[in-house]
Amino acid sequence: MDCIFCKIINKEIPSFILREDDDFLVILDRFPASVGHTLIISKTHSEDIFSIDRGILKKAMPLALDVANKLRVLNFDGLNIVQNNRKAAGQTVFHFHMHLIPRWEGDSVPINFAGREVSVEELEELRDRIINA
Ligand code: 5GP
Ligand code: ZN
Repeated sequence: MDCIFCKIINKEIPSFILREDDDFLVILDRFPASVGHTLIISKTHSEDIFSIDRGILKKAMPLALDVANKLRVLNFDGLNIVQNNRKAAGQTVFHFHMHLIPRWEGDSVPINFAGREVSVEELEELRDRIINA
């Protein structure tokens, strides 16, 4: 399989490792959106959140918190945790991973989005569609 993250996990491609355990490899992003942009990568190959093992997924957020606490040495003002699923959502490497992106006031890293005005009726209809699915 031609997966860059599998190659990084198998140490066929070098990376800057911050932490490693049985389930995850934590590395610096090679093309960082901000200083300290970190990736938490599952060791098993699952394309995205829809196929990853739940037991592994359960360990992901506590690990993200531990790594985030380590990143505090960078004195960030804020931190985004981002996890993209499928091409339409911006996923480019189709192997489950989470981004930790340290943020500083005024850094204008393009993550934040503006909401649009919608009617109450639209939200009601949407709610019913989702909960009845
Ligand atoms: P995605 O867009 O799939 O959520 O994120 C993929 C991330 O992988 C991007 O932030 C990109 O910079 C990073 N990336 C791509 N190739 C490499 C690589 O060879 N090494 C590392 N460390 N990161 C990579
Ligand atoms: Zn993979």
